[in-house]
Amino acid sequence: MALVNEHYLKLSAGYLFPEIARRVSAFAAEKPQFAGEIIRCGIGDVTEALPPSAVRAMQTANAELATRSTFRGYGPGTGYESVRGAIAHGDFRERGIDVADDEIFLSDGSKGDCGAILEILGAGNRIAVTDPVYPVYVDSNVMVGNTGPALAGGGYEGITYLPCTESNGFLADVPSELRGEGVAAPDVIYLCSPNNPTGTVMDRARAQAWVAYARKHRAIILWDAAYEAYNRDANAPKSIYEIEGARDCAVEFRSFSKSGGFTGVRCGYTVMPKSLMAYTRAGEAVALHGLWTRRWNTRSNGVSYAVQRGAEALYTDEGRKEVQALVDFYMENARILRDGCIALGLRTWGGQNAPYVWAKTPEGHDSWGFFDHLLRNARVVTTPGAGFGRCGEGYFRISAFNSRANVEEVVRRLAATR
Ligand code: PLP
Repeated sequence: MALVNEHYLKLSAGYLFPEIARRVSAFAAEKPQFAGEIIRCGIGDVTEALPPSAVRAMQTANAELATRSTFRGYGPGTGYESVRGAIAHGDFRERGIDVADDEIFLSDGSKGDCGAILEILGAGNRIAVTDPVYPVYVDSNVMVGNTGPALAGGGYEGITYLPCTESNGFLADVPSELRGEGVAAPDVIYLCSPNNPTGTVMDRARAQAWVAYARKHRAIILWDAAYEAYNRDANAPKSIYEIEGARDCAVEFRSFSKSGGFTGVRCGYTVMPKSLMAYTRAGEAVALHGLWTRRWNTRSNGVSYAVQRGAEALYTDEGRKEVQALVDFYMENARILRDGCIALGLRTWGGQNAPYVWAKTPEGHDSWGFFDHLLRNARVVTTPGAGFGRCGEGYFRISAFNSRANVEEVVRRLAATR
């Protein structure tokens, strides 16, 4: 008898985006005359074409594969050396951050990495996530058995939720401040900055406090910097390794999805410092770098050659300028959306260092109620804050990934439906 992984059965129904899609389809079926007018600002998927230097590099790479003398088969499971080098240099050493080429591990995007990392961490770690949270962190932990069952009011037994509310500026407080409230100290903490969904960025002092916590408790921070390219705040670290001591307590996730428009191409990477340790039950320190290398070489033959070449091209002078232009374009969208929400009198966060605007729903609307209201009356799809966790109730997220014309139209329609 083949047994099923029963942890999957704990997953609560309806991942957020399928539920949004269901409601949008139901509305389009009910009011087909409006179906063509719907503007989607819900899911965070990019809309603009790839940077030309990445396209050219991928075309050249594909042409190489068409000729026997330049053909390539299996590549290294952790990524080609030249690509790892371009990343370590361009994203870290050039900014004065100590990261070696072989501490970079290429992947098909950071969504998978957020869960894959759990393979080399032991069972029984107490996991902490922020609330609201990018749902993938939670579901990945449910799937590997790091949680108990789903709780009636939302969330899962056994996960430590770090409340992010207006009172802390939607930034997670370090657990020592929560201890008095009976919250057990977590061993593995997911932190995301710039944040999805709230669009906030963690300031240096708070990041330092988190690193101090992790070092003291021999905990690990999983620092998700998928939106790093959007962070323009000089007081908010772009990499956790800007913080002294972070190499001993943090893994960093990066993605080319939102910088180079690679959501469909698929490429990202993790930074795994050689000095990062986790512990056996007997208390013996084990370097995770070796385990992560082994994991990749066993589980994968790496990212496709052309895609790696495309990612590498983003680090050329031309590629960097193109990435900057793409990010600037979406950030101007974010500014328009943020200003539009503020002009309507909505309390608003994010949108300045992240492609997401987070706003409070107007009096009398809960998250899903306001989602339905905007869908029906403005034909605009947003994301209800409650879908990201209990503390997201009463808020909604608007994504800046769209055409300029659509973004301007969204602002007009929001104003018209107020
Ligand atoms: N991390 C966060 C916070 C995200 O919002 C996303 C995608 O939306 C990802 C990771 C995944 O990115 P990728 O496309 O690299 O899998």
